Amino acid sequence: MLVLVASLFATHPAFAQLESIEDYPDVIDARVTATPQRARLIIDLSGPTEFAIVSLDKPNRIAIDVKAFELKILAPADVAGKGIVSGYTVEMAEKGRARTMLTLAEPAQVQQAYILDAVADQPARLVVDIIAATPEEFATKVASDLAASIANQGAVPPTASTDPGTHAPITATRPLVVLDPGHGGVDNGASAPNGTHEKDITLTFALQLQKVLIDSGRFDVALTREDDTYLSLNERVDLARQNKADLFISLHADSFQQPEIRGASVYTRDENATDVLDKVLADGENRYDIVAGFSVPQATPAVMDILVDLMRREMRKSSFLAAEAIVHQLEPSVALRRFPVRQADFFVLQAPDVPSVLVELGFLSNASDIANLQQSDWRDRVVNALARGIADYFDSTQKAAVATQ
Ligand code: ZN
Repeated sequence: MLVLVASLFATHPAFAQLESIEDYPDVIDARVTATPQRARLIIDLSGPTEFAIVSLDKPNRIAIDVKAFELKILAPADVAGKGIVSGYTVEMAEKGRARTMLTLAEPAQVQQAYILDAVADQPARLVVDIIAATPEEFATKVASDLAASIANQGAVPPTASTDPGTHAPITATRPLVVLDPGHGGVDNGASAPNGTHEKDITLTFALQLQKVLIDSGRFDVALTREDDTYLSLNERVDLARQNKADLFISLHADSFQQPEIRGASVYTRDENATDVLDKVLADGENRYDIVAGFSVPQATPAVMDILVDLMRREMRKSSFLAAEAIVHQLEPSVALRRFPVRQADFFVLQAPDVPSVLVELGFLSNASDIANLQQSDWRDRVVNALARGIADYFDSTQKAAVATQ
């Protein structure tokens, strides 16, 4: 009998009580046996857990995620036998989540999947039985997993494959860059001793950058705000997502408790970044919604959705490439902070489907930066460097797309 396996996590009564990742079981071993008609994956675990399964195409694969603390295996054994599964990998996809990726030699589908409790000398196990499927059955499963993922997340998964090697074909339409001047309205952002507000500096830079990008003829550009109005962090993210932005750039000039820290830097989001100063900066930034009377947006819950996770990884990679391209162009033009490509948990960078970076133009807590930020020739240099960096980023992504077509 065919058992349907939802892409959402199947719950296990014993697992429901586990609260922290430290309580998750370890993956002790994994093995796959295959014949031309069937395959079986067994994952040995130090205790019961939850799992999720999705089918992916281009190339055809089945991904199985289990909530797990650690991998206790280094290199799992090769597939035993020859058949519908030609290979597999086991890795930690992120903290608390181990991913087994089966490469399919032929279209296949999950017949059944279940957790077995430990008995006698046998550890707990996840058993996944795979059977051959028609190409139509496989395509239907890929599509329904995608639909379930959308319904579950409200996220817009990529239209092409989630595989980073494949991109949507290049079209004649221009990429959309969304510029987000930080703060606004009742939220002034940081302020210099001379009374200059961050919200005004960021807007001036954004308007000028918009003009330069549009004049280049290569981009469509939208601003999250074009005047002194307040927007919550979620509203800024939603604007970028709803318009399917190709790149989101939030502009800031915050202040630090340490007045000696100065220079431009570019951030991408990392919930687990550990730099203390960067954390203070991001926490402060995330708190501005409280100042304006809004509650702090919840960090996106770690919902175990494989497709959204794959998409998020791809966006993280793209965000990092954009940050590198921008810093590369800023470097010869202006003073940069040490290690100018940085990671911190900025909520405004949380879109799972839009590459997002936050540019700290400089710091209103540093006298040299304050002077620079208000000088029009310094602003011209920065804006032109940002525009070149953005163009370089899109050049590199198009090259990647061409190379893999
Ligand atoms: Zn700011």
